[in-house]
Amino acid sequence: MLYGELVKVYEALESTSGRLEMTDILAKFFQMADCESLRKIVYLTQGQLYPDFYPQKLGLADKLLLKTIASTSGTNEKNVHELWLKEGDPGTVSERIFEEKRQTTLFSETLTLNRVYEALQRITEAEGSGSQHQKMRLLSDVLHDATPREAKYIARIVTGKMRLGVADMTVIDALSQAFATKEDRDVVERAFNVSSDLGKVGERLCRNGIEGIKEMKVEIGNPIRAMLAERLPSPFEILERMGGRAAFEYKYDGVRVQAHIEGKEITLFSRRLEDLTSQFPDVVKALRSAFRSKSGILEGECVPVDINTGEMLPFQEVSHRRGRKHDLTSAIEEYPVRIFLFDCLHLDGEDLTNKPLLERRRALESCVQTTDEVRTSEMRIVDKIEDADAFFQEALRDGCEGLMAKSVADDSVYRAGSRGFLWIKYKKEYKSEMTDTVDLVVVGAFAGRGRRKGVYGALLMATYNGEEDTFETVCKLGSGFDDQTLASLPSKLEVSRLSEKHPKVHSKLEADFWFEPSMVIEVLGAEITISPIHTCAYSRIRKDAGLAIRFPRFTGRFRDDKGPREATTTAELETMYKNQLKKVDG
Ligand code: ATP
Repeated sequence: MLYGELVKVYEALESTSGRLEMTDILAKFFQMADCESLRKIVYLTQGQLYPDFYPQKLGLADKLLLKTIASTSGTNEKNVHELWLKEGDPGTVSERIFEEKRQTTLFSETLTLNRVYEALQRITEAEGSGSQHQKMRLLSDVLHDATPREAKYIARIVTGKMRLGVADMTVIDALSQAFATKEDRDVVERAFNVSSDLGKVGERLCRNGIEGIKEMKVEIGNPIRAMLAERLPSPFEILERMGGRAAFEYKYDGVRVQAHIEGKEITLFSRRLEDLTSQFPDVVKALRSAFRSKSGILEGECVPVDINTGEMLPFQEVSHRRGRKHDLTSAIEEYPVRIFLFDCLHLDGEDLTNKPLLERRRALESCVQTTDEVRTSEMRIVDKIEDADAFFQEALRDGCEGLMAKSVADDSVYRAGSRGFLWIKYKKEYKSEMTDTVDLVVVGAFAGRGRRKGVYGALLMATYNGEEDTFETVCKLGSGFDDQTLASLPSKLEVSRLSEKHPKVHSKLEADFWFEPSMVIEVLGAEITISPIHTCAYSRIRKDAGLAIRFPRFTGRFRDDKGPREATTTAELETMYKNQLKKVDG
């Protein structure tokens, strides 16, 4: 397949922001592609070379790209740089420069998809001394044979700035449309949720049709997308929703970890499917001695503890440790973590994700020998509100955030990758006015004034609307930042800077700076109010008005473990708003 064919699809995708239209464009193209290419197309369209959980090294420094563009096109570096300052997008710079040089440059060979893919692989794999030079040479090679339009997308993907805005769900829709019927969409989605690999799902669908997908099972080494919980404000509502009886567990406040165990080999994945193994060697060691079967996939929450008192510490203590590579040994001594296991998704070759909760729990208890460091979550089956309340108090007393209620019905399977009422979280904050935090996405910023001159005065924050796949503004955030954080924000956000509002962002406010939705930060507000200037849940509660967070404060926590589409959703904020009102009314 020619790379140019894919570029035509990218251009069509860029000229629309409608999800249905995007799905249509992709589906038609998927049908045309051969199965091997399809896998690569799926990854490339999402700005990747591999599935999410595979360490991706795309993200060549802009400087290197600009240098390569200059040398390949024979343009003065200064001119390229100036254009870059003006445009801010490596793709546009690349396209313009090669367009200008078109008359003098002859393309020697038509680019195939495979050639571009392999070149990108080699560029990302080049390491060690002389690697910069090698990367530039490899890139120059493909750019030389690229048309200006092709060069645009090569420049974007190699710098990690693809920005087509194609969400996983859109690819799933398109794959279903191309190779199956509408009714089979759930099967395709489940295959993705248990494998986290859309390319693999696409290739199998193409080769073996929907039957091939139905057979896709959980595999050790392929992280399963996390099952998520809904929220409700009281044990009464939880029990009512769960049919009068539920398993309540302590809700630990730490880092969620999925452990894939094969003999002595253990890999730990985060909620965002990153490999955390090297950050938690102590957890790996502890699991190795606690696990009594041959192979399995277990899920739990890692929580730091005070070694002197045995008390559970706030999450912030763990975040010191995340990313700290050189000094890990002392970090382990300072912040040892315990893992509280709460699920077993695979055991000795058997996929347990379709088994009910209590059966999975029995499997979990049968395969671990609890130790000081490895425990199972505190759990109690409850059918009375008073018992749930008492257990809630115990959880708070023991330093937990609250409770997680889980359905004990026969259909209480592990719903990978989805949020539903089989699990319901109940945190203490729900008892008062918005003291619960939300995780919001930075979509824009406003220039600072007075003391904040030269830095951002406030950030424009949004919730994620999962139905529409859009980001809706909910507040301007200016408090809670210390000087150091404030000073570091412009450079932190520079990578996602855009020259205009991202097509997926809905905003009535004109920000001074716009960003691609990517950074997620934790915010605590005093109240949720109705506001005509924000677009969150617009016209859903009151006509011509949205929801806004009043007096928002940054808690100090960057949610690097969450992607923009995992931020607090519009629907969640709407529920929080309604719950809050209920309380005010008594
Ligand atoms: P979410 O994970 O629902 O998107 P979040 O990351 O903000 O939201 P919370 O709303 O605080 O987290 O609660 C959900 C998280 O609680 C789970 O993702 C998991 O990491 C953690 N957790 C702690 N204890 C348990 C438990 N016993 N069972 C399941 N999850 C638990």
